[in-house]
Amino acid sequence: MSETPHPRQEPQDAIAGLSAGEKMPDSPGRVAIVTGAARGIGAATARRLAADGMAVAVLDLDAGSCHATVEAITAAGGRAIAVGADVSQDDQVEAAVGTVSEELGPPAVLVNNAGVLRDNLLFKMSEDDWDTVLNVHLRGSFLMSRSVQKHMVDQRYGRIVNLSSSSALGNRGQANYSAAKAGMQGLTKTLAIELGQFGITANAVAPGFIATDMTAATAARLGMTFEDFQATVASQVPARRIGEVDDVAHAISFLASEGARYISGQVIYVAGGPLC
Ligand code: NDP
Repeated sequence: MSETPHPRQEPQDAIAGLSAGEKMPDSPGRVAIVTGAARGIGAATARRLAADGMAVAVLDLDAGSCHATVEAITAAGGRAIAVGADVSQDDQVEAAVGTVSEELGPPAVLVNNAGVLRDNLLFKMSEDDWDTVLNVHLRGSFLMSRSVQKHMVDQRYGRIVNLSSSSALGNRGQANYSAAKAGMQGLTKTLAIELGQFGITANAVAPGFIATDMTAATAARLGMTFEDFQATVASQVPARRIGEVDDVAHAISFLASEGARYISGQVIYVAGGPLC
């Protein structure tokens, strides 16, 4: 089944003789939703997709916290709105996707990035720690994907990118998070299988250690300075450095691009080296 024509082809593309499918990685005219985009990887991804030509809904728990990301995009000449929603709550998800459709247009790209940590060794992990992490990552991605897919099916076009993690392979103190991030990979492959016939791809990006507030909080929990924590991790990474938010945003941008239309159900580790 073919994808819908590119909604707005720029004059310079016509001059260059490029068709929409050949034009990578820019996606002018597409509407993207990035969850957890007030800061960290989500904010970098929102800025990157806007630079790729997309109109971006910057979604986070509190719309007010999204304003810095929105302002960065609009100041650079892009188009963005702030949307407040808890991705684990169905009514808030439905309202948020409705707002995006009304204000920007039907979403064609979804990045399920919102996340939380509640690390603890198994014997100290509470049921609330377990439920909170599974609800935000997995239930949130399920609800967002279910709500957005109808718009993608109508357009016969969609790009879903889910944030997994190197922790999907197992990590001490993260039974809840590892289970959620491994679950994201199963969800991704199933979405790819179910939605492929509608021109929709689903892929996962699995970062290693990326410098954000999330990893800063982990350092604090371990009683280390963030600098010492980063240096310790970097010494074990083949690239000999920790990751930056733009390293992850770049991979997401590629998977969200028009030209990545035959890549689906894949997991790309963004970790400065292979993981085993
Ligand atoms: P941050 O903690 O910096 O940002 C996460 C964002 O998600 C915050 O703005 C947070 O809002 C928001 N959020 C939390 N819960 C919800 C919710 N229920 N609904 C909507 N938004 C919510 O995380 P990172 O940027 O580091 O991580 C982004 C993603 O990448 C996560 O899924 C994470 O698991 C994954 N990842 C990160 C790695 C890293 O090393 N940093 C490594 C591997 C994966 P608030 O501030 O209000 O809590």
